[in-house]
Amino acid sequence: MTVVTPASEAQREAWRSGGFPEVERVRPGLWSIPVPLPAIPLRYVLVYALELPDGVAIVDAGWNTDEAYGALAAGLGTAGYEMTDVKAVLVTHIHPDHYGLAGRIREVSGAWIGLHPADSRLLHDRYDDDAVDDLVAQERALLVRSGVPRATLDELAGASMMIRHYVTMAKPDRLIEDGDRLGLPGWDLQAIWTPGHSPGHLCFVERERRLLFSGDHVLAKITPIVAVHPQSAPNPLADYLDALAAVRKFDVDEVLPAHEYRFLELAERVDHVMAHHEERLAEIEAAVAAAGGITCWDTATALTWSRPWETIPSFMRRAANNETLAHLVWLEARDRLRRVPGEPDLWYPA
Ligand SMILES: [Zn+2]
Ligand SMILES: [Zn+2]
Repeated sequence: MTVVTPASEAQREAWRSGGFPEVERVRPGLWSIPVPLPAIPLRYVLVYALELPDGVAIVDAGWNTDEAYGALAAGLGTAGYEMTDVKAVLVTHIHPDHYGLAGRIREVSGAWIGLHPADSRLLHDRYDDDAVDDLVAQERALLVRSGVPRATLDELAGASMMIRHYVTMAKPDRLIEDGDRLGLPGWDLQAIWTPGHSPGHLCFVERERRLLFSGDHVLAKITPIVAVHPQSAPNPLADYLDALAAVRKFDVDEVLPAHEYRFLELAERVDHVMAHHEERLAEIEAAVAAAGGITCWDTATALTWSRPWETIPSFMRRAANNETLAHLVWLEARDRLRRVPGEPDLWYPA
């Protein structure tokens, strides 16, 4: 259900019809450039270009594919710039659709890359070739404790490895902390640390123009994945709900997310997402109460998803498991459930 008003009907229509939106001028000096994503339902990431006296800064970058690079270059062209004019790449978080192309842009333009330290710390383990076997082993251990059936374990543990090809490993030039002013000429941009979807997720608020660049933290229709995984915080859902409250208070006219379309009502959307998680928590608590001694995996399969469980591809079933685990962990921290550790962990009412 949509509770928010699209800021651009054309962009919303492109999202809804399965199309690809146009490059749009959001405000004088501010552009929305859709960059295509290969083979995933999100279809595109919205990169924002902010005009500077001597070039542009961009919020997020896209995946590292030639097609994405070409679309970003063409979009910058519509705005009157070239890739070599990019002075800064503000990355909301390290997921490949936001960070993947940042290194390649820096190579051609000399731009600085900014990232929160909590995401910067994860780069080596996530994207360096010599570390990746470790990450898969940790994911596998987590899935064993979740009670994933042996037959599907290997498939699920390595499920997101193909995505790594869409990233150039690039260390940030600048670490951006909560509350930092970016100091971009002509822009009153402040970073807000919003962990949950990723440990170092950042939003950027522009108070003078009354805008929030929300990355994946708050989107018009979909809710971002908030999951326990080897690189997550211990209780990512608690972080996420706190970070929703942190952005809710901003009095802005428009939210500029990284996917779908721009929209107007921030507080209403935040309330709706919070209510969604409340419902999910209640559903999971009830599933555990009904079973008494259930694994995370069996809890996940008992929940309602947007399509039948058997038709969900393996990397999304892993996300569903890890997302269920985030809710179980949140309930455990609130003493609403208890866990008996083992292989697998079993969950009981408190
Ligand atoms: Zn993301
Ligand atoms: Zn994303």
